[in-house]
Amino acid sequence: MQKKADLDKLSRLRGALWVALKELEGALEVACERSALVKGNVYELARKCGKPSCACAAGQLHRSMVLSWSHQGKTRLRTIPPDKLDRLRAHSEHYLRYRRARARVTEIHQQILKLFDQIEKLRREKP
Ligand SMILES: [Zn+2]
Repeated sequence: MQKKADLDKLSRLRGALWVALKELEGALEVACERSALVKGNVYELARKCGKPSCACAAGQLHRSMVLSWSHQGKTRLRTIPPDKLDRLRAHSEHYLRYRRARARVTEIHQQILKLFDQIEKLRREKP
């Protein structure tokens, strides 16, 4: 017969298991969305072109929106045409959310395994 304290603990662990499942469901929903994902950050880049006679040499920097992402350890940069900015920005945010959800799946997975082990310990009887 199990002790009252163990039964209470078991009940708490079962509850935590269902909470974890709900969270997992939320993370999996992100994977089921249909929008395109673009890896990288969108931001404004201000730079000098290097020509001594250009206005940028006097401080009026050239400004453009860029997408930067890392590829094989190197940072890549691409200028974004204005008509593509909104779309790219949205897709890059979707990508970030996607990667966060993926990381969350790993955490929840670990958490569920831990709960499994704790439950097993409490439910096991000596043979
Ligand atoms: Zn310039």
